Amino acid sequence: MNGFIGVDIGGTTINIGFVSERKQLIHEHLIETQPEKGPQDAIQRISLSIRQMIAASDEKIVFKGIGIGLPGLLDIEKGMIIEAANLPGWQGFPVSKSLNAQTSIPVFIENDANLAALGEYWMGAGANASSLFMITLGSGIGGALLINGKVFKLHPSAGEFGHMIIEKSGATCTCGRTGCLETFVSKHGFLRLVKEKIPFIPHSALNKYPINNISPQLIAQLALQGDELANTIYHEAGESLGIAISNVINLTGVNLVIIGGGIANAWQSLYQPVMQSLRKNVFKTLIENVQVLKASLGEKAGFIGAAKLAADALSK
Ligand SMILES: [Zn+2]
Repeated sequence: MNGFIGVDIGGTTINIGFVSERKQLIHEHLIETQPEKGPQDAIQRISLSIRQMIAASDEKIVFKGIGIGLPGLLDIEKGMIIEAANLPGWQGFPVSKSLNAQTSIPVFIENDANLAALGEYWMGAGANASSLFMITLGSGIGGALLINGKVFKLHPSAGEFGHMIIEKSGATCTCGRTGCLETFVSKHGFLRLVKEKIPFIPHSALNKYPINNISPQLIAQLALQGDELANTIYHEAGESLGIAISNVINLTGVNLVIIGGGIANAWQSLYQPVMQSLRKNVFKTLIENVQVLKASLGEKAGFIGAAKLAADALSK
């Protein structure tokens, strides 16, 4: 039986998983990225983990390929990062070549948001669909449109769903433009909404925390506990997210939307305003079959998608 190795490299952790061609998750392992030590050191530790996991695996499984998910703008052909804010020092480092030299297994790379979509499509909430739009809500927003199992993109810099402009004269975004979706639904966007709304809801539990200690996770937790301010923020964020999703549905006709990431943990608080916004903004002929689902693979989506990337690349 063939197996594929998926590696999801983030700013703080690296998730490694082994998946068989029969969609069985055989092993998984998490190591720290320690970005200050640079890419060479991380690749060495990844390769050591992979060799140990292969040694512990059933001998009947042959690991044919490694897929790697990386953040930021990539040079897919050369197997390297062009630009990634949370992996300083990785720009121009030959990730694929270096891991291939240490493992003798073919290596393929792809953007992490695209791989999360591919993971959910292969083994998660999108397992029965051919096309889907996947959104990951973390400190920023990742988005990927999958059509017939393939990521749709005409240019590597395209597909920045978080920077879709939804308000003409909105707040300034980290990208320097104004009115982007991320000014509502991201770590930065949530903090902006807390500052804006806290004077009107002073009894909120959020008032007990210094502003710098307020994370999307805390707001999600308080929203689930019924905090009025946390729910107001979710309502506004959900409405804005709904407008952006409506634009994507009206443009492409995609009918399955999967939402993952930490902000999606307060699912009920997010789902209602998103659906309200879709019902208002999507064309009637398109809305009938639209489904919005919570991602089901969590942190595993990235490495499962990376394993699928390797499987697809080698089946060509
Ligand atoms: Zn922006």
